[in-house]
Amino acid sequence: MDKCNDIVEKDKLVYSSAGRMPYYPLVIAKGQGALVEDVDGNQYIDMLASAAALNTGHAHPHIVAEITQQAQKFIHYTPAYMFHEPLVELAQELIDITPGSFEKRVVFGLSGSDAIDGMIKHARAYTGRSIIISFVGAYHGATYGSLSLSAISLNMRRKIGPIVPDMHHINYPNCYRCKYNLDNTTCDLECFKELEEALSNYIPIDNVAAILIEPIAGDSGVNEPPQRYLDKLYNLCKENGVLFAVDEIQQGFGRTGKWFSIEHFGIEPDIIVMGKAIASGMPMSAIVAREEIMHSLEAPAHLFTTMGNPVCCKAALATINVIKNEELIKQAEELGAYMKKRFEQMREKYEIIGDVRGKGMSVGVDLVKNRNTKEPNKEAAAKICYRSWEKGVIIAFIAGGVLRIQPPLVITKEQIDTALDGIEASIQEYIAGSIPDDVLNVAKGWTN
Ligand code: PMP
Repeated sequence: MDKCNDIVEKDKLVYSSAGRMPYYPLVIAKGQGALVEDVDGNQYIDMLASAAALNTGHAHPHIVAEITQQAQKFIHYTPAYMFHEPLVELAQELIDITPGSFEKRVVFGLSGSDAIDGMIKHARAYTGRSIIISFVGAYHGATYGSLSLSAISLNMRRKIGPIVPDMHHINYPNCYRCKYNLDNTTCDLECFKELEEALSNYIPIDNVAAILIEPIAGDSGVNEPPQRYLDKLYNLCKENGVLFAVDEIQQGFGRTGKWFSIEHFGIEPDIIVMGKAIASGMPMSAIVAREEIMHSLEAPAHLFTTMGNPVCCKAALATINVIKNEELIKQAEELGAYMKKRFEQMREKYEIIGDVRGKGMSVGVDLVKNRNTKEPNKEAAAKICYRSWEKGVIIAFIAGGVLRIQPPLVITKEQIDTALDGIEASIQEYIAGSIPDDVLNVAKGWTN
């Protein structure tokens, strides 16, 4: 680990502390498909797809070729003043693959965060209202607007106020840790009543522009709301002139076994925000929304010089082609179900696994101190992550003690088996008490 440690030490001398929360000192040298090699020549199976931004895996040859060819023609031409074909082609593709057959328009960005800010601007402009409602535990980004909609870490809010006003946060439905102790197949959706109560006490609905939700929550622990909850939320929006906006930045582009996770619920949102995997790791995001919403702002209300960069557009078009041609959505559904089943079998063996959740290749393994109290087991998560990395498997943990399992969709069944064997062996070593406490100084994960 000589070179890795050396670079990590140098990094500490030159790079800002606000943007790093490492789980282990991994310094990547190259990657191919679901495999990664570090600068010391160690091999890993990437079960994190570099945090869900590489659904097509590392260095996919078709995507690399498209990026290279475009870079040789022209790297940039600002879309504010001029036009280029890759942008038009990509916008059309996004209109075609997103739910809803109504007129839509697209705008590009460079990160999920700036696209969330764009959503706030368009929703406010279109409705003439200022409030946006989002959910506790959600991460929506690090720009002022997106961090104001996030409610996951106090560190994101300390020292930088005032943040953007009129952002309200409601509890996300959490069926595993239901605070009303109810069964979600028979309950009366007490969690939805919390929203209704907020709307009758302190959030005037006639000033709500949009409700933003992740249809399958990511960083708050891979939570899945009941269908009935999303149906009620959608109806509430429609009855009150509120836009229904979804953040698909983490779960989009096939990850959950559909193009977009909202499709599992049969709902057509007014605004879809996407990023991460859209261009296989090239800096790109997009907002796709009803035409009338997108046309509520006039230039230069929302433009960035390098938005819709043609190299990134080509990477995104190639990404969509690969997802279609290699049937990666089907692969996410089928291999994802296999992966989830293997974790469920582990749950039968190991008391520390309280719950296994998720769809397709977005799975959360919730580690608990006690199955009755369901208290999150952050120590177990940190140690198991670290030991898995030592065994050549890249995972992370979120939301206290939830192992985040999101491999590239191109991963093979054999690679999944090898990775899960490594994770299972790490769980066994944790239970046997053979992972030392000092790894906790490295594998901190999210901090508050
Ligand atoms: N929304 C969700 C659901 C995310 O997972 C992320 C990234 N973790 C973001 C927004 C922000 O995206 P970016 O980091 O590209 O700004």
